[in-house]
Amino acid sequence: MSEVRSPAIEIALLGDDGAAPATTPATAGVDGRTNIFDFDRARLERFFEEDLGEKKFRAHQVMKWIHHRHATDFADMTDLGKALRAKLEERAVVHAPQVLFEKTSTDDTQKWLLGMDAKNAIETVYIPDKGRGTLCVSSQVGCALNCGFCSTATQGFNRNLSTAEIIGQVWVAARALGNVPHASVAQGGRRLTNVVMMGMGEPLANFDNVVRAMSIMRDDLGYGLANKRVTLSTAGLVPQIDRLAQESDVSLAVSLHAPFDELRTQLMPINKKYPLAELLDACVRYALRKKGESVTFEYTLMKGVNDQPEHARALIGLLRDFDRRVQMKGAAKINLIPFNPFPGTGFERPSDEAIRAFQKMLNNAGMIAPVRRTRGDDIDAACGQLKGQVLDRTRRSAEHRKRLQAAGAH
Ligand code: SAH
Repeated sequence: MSEVRSPAIEIALLGDDGAAPATTPATAGVDGRTNIFDFDRARLERFFEEDLGEKKFRAHQVMKWIHHRHATDFADMTDLGKALRAKLEERAVVHAPQVLFEKTSTDDTQKWLLGMDAKNAIETVYIPDKGRGTLCVSSQVGCALNCGFCSTATQGFNRNLSTAEIIGQVWVAARALGNVPHASVAQGGRRLTNVVMMGMGEPLANFDNVVRAMSIMRDDLGYGLANKRVTLSTAGLVPQIDRLAQESDVSLAVSLHAPFDELRTQLMPINKKYPLAELLDACVRYALRKKGESVTFEYTLMKGVNDQPEHARALIGLLRDFDRRVQMKGAAKINLIPFNPFPGTGFERPSDEAIRAFQKMLNNAGMIAPVRRTRGDDIDAACGQLKGQVLDRTRRSAEHRKRLQAAGAH
């Protein structure tokens, strides 16, 4: 029988450095040619004007071909003129990630394993729901933050994804789903209505590429998503939250998971660097930059770890304080996520009654606290279950395998 490890032991084994090892700045150019997927509208316009000596509107035509009609061959872009098509062929490519496999869950959640280079692959998940379709997008190959309850952490870290590799995930899903960006959801056609940067990786640790990719998601010439429907989720990189407030305009979600510093540091080593008070200050600044703005706090419920009445009470205090500082009731939204297990984890999901009891305490304090439904867990596509294939540059995946073997041997 396998030994049940306590979360505390698990965390001690995982170490506590939140720092990312050297990252590979990946631009996914091919044979010296530029990958158009690396460009948002502003950059593509510049490429057309300065590098190709063409008019801006040509860039707009190309964006529509790629993101609306899912074309990758310049020869198919029939409204461009032969000479321009030949010039593009010479200088540029439209290179998407390679689909290694695709799986559909019994609840219609869909998952793609996408090859990013010869050795690394990431996962992207589509979650259809009534009136909406949400795509969960990855930002890094693996993750360097090492949160003890997340399966991606056990794989270690390799590198940041390029803009092309991030928007490429949206493109692959949009093409597979037959998405028509500006069609109505009710009449079909529009399948992608929301994107959440909640896949593998810490999006704010790959700031520039993530912000550029999110700009294509929100662009009418891209996927036409409203700012509010693009959500960036972070483990809490404080300086980058402030930078995001200045450089982009998307919904912010913050992985909280504990209302006390000591517990949060155990669960999420990054809390040592940016403790709760500093993190919440940054969230208040983010919310205050725009009238009526809220911030979503994600709280993964783990049995006996952060699901007790004292945690609920402290969480309520923290959320109330946030509302008071932003001067808006409901400025702090809370999303409860039942823990999703994965091999070798020391954590457990609380019982349904325990989850309901926790939720009820928040409700009684006048807070809406939806419990996120688990989707796609039969294909390991639920929160915290994404793994992909990471050529680990840290020692984490080897350490995790050792722990699994040791647990199996007892
Ligand atoms: N690095 C970012 C993006 C990941 S988002 C972040 O930390 O926010 C994925 C969400 O699922 C985060 O809130 C994460 O904390 C949560 N999560 C991770 N592992 C989980 C698990 N095993 N069960 C449930 N939720 C988990």
